[in-house]
Formats: sequence, C-alpha cells, structure tokens
Amino acid sequence: MSALTRRIALGAIAAAPLAAPALLAGLARPAAANVPPPVGRQAPGWFRFKVGQAEVTVLHDGYFIRPNPADGMVRNATGEQVLGELREMFLPTDAVHNPFNITVVNTGRNLVLFDAGNGTAARPTARFMLENMRASGIEPAQIDTIAVSHFHGDHITGLTDPQGQPIFANARVLAPEPEWNHWMDDGRMSRAPQAAQGGFQNARRQFGAYGAKVERYAPGGELVPGVSSIATYGHTPGHCAFRVSSGNAQLILSSDTTGIPLFLRNPDWHSAFDMDGNMAAASRRRLFDMVVADRIPVVAYHWPFPSASYIVRRGNGFDRVPMEYSLAL
Ligand SMILES: [Zn+2]
Repeated sequence: MSALTRRIALGAIAAAPLAAPALLAGLARPAAANVPPPVGRQAPGWFRFKVGQAEVTVLHDGYFIRPNPADGMVRNATGEQVLGELREMFLPTDAVHNPFNITVVNTGRNLVLFDAGNGTAARPTARFMLENMRASGIEPAQIDTIAVSHFHGDHITGLTDPQGQPIFANARVLAPEPEWNHWMDDGRMSRAPQAAQGGFQNARRQFGAYGAKVERYAPGGELVPGVSSIATYGHTPGHCAFRVSSGNAQLILSSDTTGIPLFLRNPDWHSAFDMDGNMAAASRRRLFDMVVADRIPVVAYHWPFPSASYIVRRGNGFDRVPMEYSLAL
C-alpha cells in the first residue's frame, strides 16, 4: 500500500463513526474486553532513607478529610485567606486531606517507633500503618521503643488493637512527662467538657494496656542513643519533636509542630487543633528556624506522604523541598 493509499484508508476508518457505526463498534469491542477495570489502589505506603548509619522508614496510615477548610480550620485567618493559600498550593478548596505518617528508625541498637497512628478501627481511610509496616519488612514485635510525641488520638490509638491489647508486645512506651501530667490528671478530666472526655479516656486506655512498660521522659534529653526529644509545646501542653543523630547526619521528626503544610507556609496561623495557638506558633518558628539554619531534613506527621523534606524560607514563613526518592539506600 502506498503512503497515499494508506492515508486515505486510515481516513476512511476515522470517518467511519458517521458512515458506519457498526464497523467502529466491531473494532472497539475486542480491545475493551482486554482492559481490566482500574486497580483503584495506591502503591504501598512506606518510604525508606538513611540518616548516617540509621535507617529511617516512614509508614503511611492514611488520611482524614476535613470539609469546608474556610470554616474554622484556622483560628486567626479569614476563610478567604485560607482558600487563597490553598489555591496557591494547587489544592482543592472544598475539603482538605489531613495525612498521617508514622516513622520507624533503626539506629543499629534500637528499633524505635515514633507515635502509633489511628489504630485499625477508628477511620476507614486511616488504618494502614501496620499493613505498611509489614510490607516494609518490619514486624510489630521487633519494635523495642515507642517514642510518643503527644496524646492526641491520631498518634496513640494505634498502640492497641480493637480489643485493647498491646500491638507492640516487646516495646517500652516513652511518654513526655508534661503531656502525661495534663491528660492523666483526673481532676482536669472531670472538669473538661463532655466533648473532650474521649481524649482523656483514650489516653488511659492506651497507656493502661502497657502497664509498667510505660516510662515518662523529661523533654529535651536523650531517649535512646542517637534519639533525643525537643520540647515544642503549644499544640498540646507537653508536645515534643525528636532529633535523630548518626555521625554528622541528623533528622528532625517534627510531630505536630505544624499540622498540614499550610501551617509551615503560615507559621503564625493558629490551627483549630492547637491547644495554645501563640505557644504553638512560637515553638514552630523556633524549630523551623533551627532546621533551616542547620539544613536538617524533616519528617512531619501531617505532611503528604512520604513527608520527608528539606525546609527553606519563603516570605514570612517556610516551605518544603521534598526529599528525592532513590532506590539506593
Ligand atoms: Zn496529629
């Protein structure tokens, strides 16, 4: 077939829908039968990199949808300011995804889990931490230390299974002392409004399941060799971030020092989840000023998976430069 004849023949097929629909249907049917339905699932949610000799694994627990972000999500900004910022970040403005990332660090001496996720029963879209841990090659029984940043339910409910049994059978659980003093105070619980009771009760359930394996730590000190806590109060009364050090390399796990990246770009905005907005903003600036000055990578609990990022200054706030994926470790 000459090029010209061939072009005419193809043109005839292209014109076929108008001239002969039956011919087109005949062509389309075999192909459609061979195409499977969309898989509808993401890749496994774990991401691994090294910090010096330490091996870091970020585990995705899933996400929670916060509808109507213009309505009360930021206490000290107008709805229009919030929507404008979301548009600038190329994010939808009708609802915000709040992701959850749990980190495991293998220091060579310890296998440390930082917070424990939502558990498997709370939210259909956020219950995947254990599945992703196993997919990454780590078993819950291998965890020897759990460092807790604060007592909000999305960070501690995954300590136990739906029957209330400990999931991490061989781990001791390290909890910040001022956080413990706040949530375990029976008097404060009895004075708290009904809507806040659940948080107090959940803390008792989760830590109660570990009994004598729970230890309290004074923020600012070393938890295990190569891992120390940093007081970043405000989100909650005893909220902590963590520093992982190996040789000259470091990593900051910022926990909820910011929520979603909106609050990294606008560090003075008060999230509805921050119990003391002014104190949280001051802690945020202090931690991220240090991170920028020292060029330390950060994993935050509520940034989009895999979260690991370098931080730069942007305007009056900060922004992320996501860490690049590499097959090499
Ligand atoms: Zn949180």
